[in-house]
Amino acid sequence: MANKAVFDTFNRCDKMRILLTNDDGIHASGLHALIKELKSIAEIYVAAPDRERSGTGHSITVFDPIKVMPTRIEGTSAAWIVGGTPVDCVKLALSRLIAEKVDIVVSGVNHGPNLGTDVLYSGTVSAAAEGVILGVPSIAVSLNDYKAEMDAGFAALFTRNLIRTVTRKGIATTTLVNVNIPALEPDKIKGIRITRLGVRNYDNLFEERKDPRGNTYYWMGGGVVQEDQEPDSDVMAVEEGYISITPISLDLTDYKLMEEYRQTFARYLDFFSRGDKT
Ligand code: MN
Repeated sequence: MANKAVFDTFNRCDKMRILLTNDDGIHASGLHALIKELKSIAEIYVAAPDRERSGTGHSITVFDPIKVMPTRIEGTSAAWIVGGTPVDCVKLALSRLIAEKVDIVVSGVNHGPNLGTDVLYSGTVSAAAEGVILGVPSIAVSLNDYKAEMDAGFAALFTRNLIRTVTRKGIATTTLVNVNIPALEPDKIKGIRITRLGVRNYDNLFEERKDPRGNTYYWMGGGVVQEDQEPDSDVMAVEEGYISITPISLDLTDYKLMEEYRQTFARYLDFFSRGDKT
């Protein structure tokens, strides 16, 4: 109850606005779990794809029009079904659909984890990354659960508490927070680890099949390869029953190599400074 009191105070002082999205689509149970849990602490806006868009990474729709259908979802101030990618949803909502200033973007709760190198394929993480690009602190939340009937209740409750912490302490607008929650009963979860991105590779990635006309096609699937992980990686944390919180920077520059490359390419830099270019 103490938590609720803090939130109510926060609400009265300053009306927080949260934009929710989810790459599993507008009907995703993880999205609706977040609406249910967060509507008491903030004004909720929803912009979500019209269908599942998992694995679409940071793709945007440029050569096709993007259809937007307003819809009514209980507990939200406004909601839109978007015929585009998760990143389209965030871009549209923040730059066009919502007139007011949004305080936090929350993407999730995703059906399945988003760990290690998989964050680059993830529509969930990319939607949060787009929030950061547009200057809004953003959180991606994923549940390590592949069951058809996923219960995202605890994950949504945890997100609510996380938002309380970050709004109290302040959250960097340049970094996105990637959260992965083990699919365990809440009392079986061991705690929280602040982690780095681990390694995530798949084997037997493509299944070869034949269509009714005998043409070969491929379907991407595959299983996760068990690999050595750094002990402080997100993969290890979730495997060992901890909630993983990874701060992700969008600056992909390799600063160590930058120095090395300055040496390596010095010769070519000379080439351009010479007058004759021969
Ligand atoms: Mn998904």
